[in-house]
Amino acid sequence: MAPHYGIHLRGGLITERDADFCTVRVRVPAGNLTVEQVRGLAAIAKRYGTGTVHVTARQAVEIPHVDPKKIPRITKALAKNGTPLGSEKDEVVNIVACPSIERCKYGMVDTIGLAKKLDERLFGKEMPVKVRISISGCPNACTSPMLNEIGIIGRVKPKRIPGLCTGCGTCAEYCGEGAISIRNGVSVLDPEKCVQCGVCIQSCPFHLLKSEHSHYLVTVGGRRGRHPKIGRVLMTLEEEEKVVEAVERIVKWVYRRAWSGRLLAEQLDDLNFEAFRTELTRDLQKEPLQPQQ
Ligand code: SF4
Ligand code: SF4
Ligand code: SF4
Repeated sequence: MAPHYGIHLRGGLITERDADFCTVRVRVPAGNLTVEQVRGLAAIAKRYGTGTVHVTARQAVEIPHVDPKKIPRITKALAKNGTPLGSEKDEVVNIVACPSIERCKYGMVDTIGLAKKLDERLFGKEMPVKVRISISGCPNACTSPMLNEIGIIGRVKPKRIPGLCTGCGTCAEYCGEGAISIRNGVSVLDPEKCVQCGVCIQSCPFHLLKSEHSHYLVTVGGRRGRHPKIGRVLMTLEEEEKVVEAVERIVKWVYRRAWSGRLLAEQLDDLNFEAFRTELTRDLQKEPLQPQQ
């Protein structure tokens, strides 16, 4: 192991139970691979591992049981395949996203495009704490974004066109939250119960429910594991560029302020989360940040 110690410090290499071997984790933003990359990974796993791959809970791929002597060669082969060495330590790790508008009928935002943009800017950045980012295209939250250090969820607010509702109740039937009731012959929305999933909008046979601009809910400080915690709501944003900017600002804030040795979820109050939220909300109303600022 010693000759490759520098490489081994990187997050994509995990020492196995049998310490003579390591698992090599691969970077797969949003879990998307081309057929050629899958073929390439199969060949690499056969050549450098035992011919098996493992798909992780965070949409990455691992090649188990690699002899550490082969690390420089496998690292090169993975990069050539367009599936470079991944990340697992105190870094920004593999960015997770559901398929959303690419395939899912409930999706409201381009999760995969956003995941790729965030991956390009932030993947592998060394941090005092592990930073997991997860994106879901609607409040069904299939990728559990609120259990990640940074969570992003696409949402949409329904709006009824005043005066035209027939009171047929179809939208109320479709709403899984019991947020719509029929009163005096028209549908009435309870904003406290509405999770902004947009299902009712599609359901109205008379197209009387419209959506306001779809937007992103951003949360910070969630965690999974033995003491799971739901992330705190940071803000909602309408434009993708603003979300990218907000996430970059969150990462910068965590990088500068957080202490190592404790998960982000455990130190949000010490980091003065509320002051950060106020500052970020104010700043995002201004012009975008210049690169490297
Ligand atoms: S989170 Fe919503 S958009 Fe994404 S896969 Fe699940 S149901 Fe579809
Ligand atoms: S957006 Fe979803 S939760 Fe809100 S009223 Fe419509 S169906 Fe119900
Ligand atoms: S489905 Fe449309 S018409 Fe029927 S109650 Fe709902 S909003 Fe009104």
